[in-house]
Amino acid sequence: MKITFWGAAEKVTGSMFLLELDSDFRILIDCGMDMEQMSEDMPIHPSSSFPFEASMINAVILTHAHLDHTGKIPILIREGFEGPIICTSPTASLMDIILYDSAAINRIKLNKYHKRKSKSPSYKPGFDLKEVYLEKDVKEAFKQLKTIDFDKTYQLIKTVKLRMVPTGHLLGAANVHLEIEEGEEKKSILFTGDIGRLKYPLLTDPSTPPKADYLVCEATYGGKTHQSSSDTEKELLHYITESCIKKPGKLLIPAFSIGRTQAILFTINKLFKTEQLPTIPVYADSPMAMKSNRVYERYSNILNEEALEFKAEHKELFYGENFDYIEKLEESKKISGKPGPAILVSSSGMLEGGRIQHHIKQNLQNPNTTILMVGFTPEGTFGHKLVNADGTIEIGNKSVPVLAKVVKTDAFSGHGDHHDLMRTILSQDVENNKGVFLVHGEPDSLETLSQDVRKAGFKQVNIPKKGESFEL
Ligand SMILES: [Zn+2]
Repeated sequence: MKITFWGAAEKVTGSMFLLELDSDFRILIDCGMDMEQMSEDMPIHPSSSFPFEASMINAVILTHAHLDHTGKIPILIREGFEGPIICTSPTASLMDIILYDSAAINRIKLNKYHKRKSKSPSYKPGFDLKEVYLEKDVKEAFKQLKTIDFDKTYQLIKTVKLRMVPTGHLLGAANVHLEIEEGEEKKSILFTGDIGRLKYPLLTDPSTPPKADYLVCEATYGGKTHQSSSDTEKELLHYITESCIKKPGKLLIPAFSIGRTQAILFTINKLFKTEQLPTIPVYADSPMAMKSNRVYERYSNILNEEALEFKAEHKELFYGENFDYIEKLEESKKISGKPGPAILVSSSGMLEGGRIQHHIKQNLQNPNTTILMVGFTPEGTFGHKLVNADGTIEIGNKSVPVLAKVVKTDAFSGHGDHHDLMRTILSQDVENNKGVFLVHGEPDSLETLSQDVRKAGFKQVNIPKKGESFEL
C-alpha cells in the first residue's frame, strides 16, 4: 500500500492523508481546511479542488471535528465522493456546529465577493470559489456519515479493521488504528490525530494507543513545554481573584466556542460550586458555545470521572445561578459597558471576528479590566497584536492606548506538549516500528521532535513534504 501526505505536511493545518491499498481501495484520513493558506497551492487535479479525483476515494475516516481536520468534507462530497464518512458520534455532533458555522461565514464572504464584482468587472477574488461551500453542501455531507464507538474493532472491508482510541484534545477525538491485510501480509498504521493532555477539564486522559507498524504523529507542540501549571482550577482562581475579587474589575476571556469554552465554563462553575469564590456574575456570550455545551451534556457519559461526579451532584456542567447566557447581539453589546465585578467568556479566541471584539474595544481603556488570553494567537491576528502591545494598539488607522491588563496562560491548551507527544510515540514498539511520519507542526517543531524520536531508537523517522508518497 501507499500513503500520500496531502495536508498538514511541514505545517499545522489542513490534515489530509491518502492511503491507497494494493486492492485499489482508497481511504482518506481527515479532510481538513488549510487555515494558513486559504487559497490553496495544492497541485490541483484539473477537474477537482483536490490533488486527486474525489470520486476515487472509497471511505473517509475523521480523527476529530476541528475545521483543520474536517473543513473540506462538503467540497469532497460536491465533487463526487460517495462513500461513508466515519467518525465517533460526538465528532459528528460537533462537526455539525463547525461546518454550518463555516458555511455561514462562506456565505458572508460570497456576498462581499459578489458586491465587489458587481462594482468592478476586473475584480479578482481573494479566494478560489471552488473552495466555497454553503449550507446545502453541508446538509448533503451529513447523509454519508457513519458513526462508530470508541475502542471497538470494526471491519471496514474484508481486509481492513478499524479502531478509534480516545485521545483527549476535544470531545470525540480519536487516534485511528488500521489493520490491513495485503496478500499474506498484515500491516498496521496508527494516525494520532491531535493529542490531548493529561488532567484536562471534562476530558479523559489520552488512552495508550495500540501498537502499529507505522505511526503518523502530530507535532504541534514539538520541542515546546507548556509554561503554565496544568492545574486549570488554580490558574483560573488566581486570575479571577486578582481581576474581580481584589478589585471590582472585569475579566474578559476570549475563547474558541468549541472545546475551550466548555473547559473554562466548567472550571468557573466548579470554583463557585465549591465555594472557592464569592458569587459574581458570569456572562457566556457565544451562541455557538451554547450549542457546543449541549453536545458535551449529551455525551456526558464519556467525560472524565471528575465531570461525572460533578454532574451527579450538581446536575448541570455549565450552568449556575450566577451564569447568564447571552443570545441576542443587542444584549451582548449592553453587557460590554456594565461595571464589574464580572467574568465574560466570548469568542473568537484569536479576536478575529466574533462578539469578543466589541467587548475588547469597549474595555480596552478601562484599567479595571483584565483580558486573559487562553489560546494560541498566530502572527497577524488581533489577538497576537494585543498580547504584544506596548501601551498602544492600532485599530483601523488609529493608535489606541491599552489600559486594560493583558495576561496569558496555556493551561487551557487542548494540545499535549513535547512530553505528551513523546509519551504517545514511546507507547509504540521501538524495535519493530517500520516508520514514523511527523506531521501537523511548524518546521522547527517537527525537527526538534524528530531528533528526540531518533534518539529514542526509532530508525525510520520522516518529515513528509506535501504530496510526498511512501510505499508501506
Ligand atoms: Zn484539533
